[in-house]
Amino acid sequence: MPQQSFDLIVIGEGISGLACAGHARRARLSVATFESTLFGGLVLNVNELDGYPGAESGTLLASELMQANSDAGVASIQEEVTAIRSAGGAFEVAAGGVYSARQVVIASGARLKKLGVPGESEFEGRGVSRCADCDAPMFQNEDVVVVGGGDSALQEALVLANFCRSVRVAHRGEKLRAQKHLAEKAAANPKISFMWKTTVDAILGGKMVEKVRLKRTGDGKIEEIACAGIFAYIGLEPNAACAPSGAGRDARGHLVTNDAFETSMAGIWAIGAVRAGYSGLLRDAAAEAQKAADGIVKRLGFD
Ligand code: NAP
Repeated sequence: MPQQSFDLIVIGEGISGLACAGHARRARLSVATFESTLFGGLVLNVNELDGYPGAESGTLLASELMQANSDAGVASIQEEVTAIRSAGGAFEVAAGGVYSARQVVIASGARLKKLGVPGESEFEGRGVSRCADCDAPMFQNEDVVVVGGGDSALQEALVLANFCRSVRVAHRGEKLRAQKHLAEKAAANPKISFMWKTTVDAILGGKMVEKVRLKRTGDGKIEEIACAGIFAYIGLEPNAACAPSGAGRDARGHLVTNDAFETSMAGIWAIGAVRAGYSGLLRDAAAEAQKAADGIVKRLGFD
């Protein structure tokens, strides 16, 4: 027997989940958001919000949305959702307790992929970092390595360059995937240099990271370079484990939706980084949240 029932349960208190919950609540639905860690999601790692005017930082934006939702009467439940089941035309959401919802939005986002090389786990917090924005000041005047060639790698390399002596970006390819304006900024920064066709083989050190062993992808040449920190931004993995098996996924595990952001299971919606086809842009997370909320409001007859 569910302990509480809602019109809508939103899983994930990242920007898309918080925004969606807020829109639905303003249309008078009863709404709960679920979060297993800290609210805010991926933007908590971002000091400068790119292409999202009006918001000073990820943390501030998330805090404002949380506060607005709380004021509007959205229930925020700090429990990890482990399963979602169909139950008599509604859904049972299993977390710390069991809850019921007429519609469910999965906005559980994604997590940074790991390199999976020796030393990565061992030196976590001792030179291996997942958040340049949080940890950059600890690497004042140090040499660091960033891995990856996407927006995250370059955005975080630029943050690190404000503090570090040098930032070397190791990219497995020869062409960056990052947006042009980030690539140009990084190329123009005298502290940032690129190591092309290069992957990380191992992270080495004593108490702290001291060097990284690199491998060139073409000829397999191995090189060790001294560094105090290593920041891997090699893409994201979707947090889709709680979604029912009936909701279709792509080959990389992202939830597949239609244009309205509903999955192949009617009543289960997916928005933001957990969804196949998400652009990665914050403004699109907010736009998806609005559109999904509109669809749900209409479906439930609150419009
Ligand atoms: P991403 O776009 O998937 O890029 C990952 C990068 O890591 C690629 O350059 C990839 O190389 C490389 N890579 C993947 N696996 C690797 C491995 N095992 N070893 C070495 N390198 C590897 O990931 P992201 O940069 O985290 O961005 C994720 C999404 O968020 C994107 O949609 C992005 O646009 C968005 N985002 C936007 C902003 C912004 O708007 N400012 C900021 C951050 C992120 P290849 O290129 O060779 O595949």
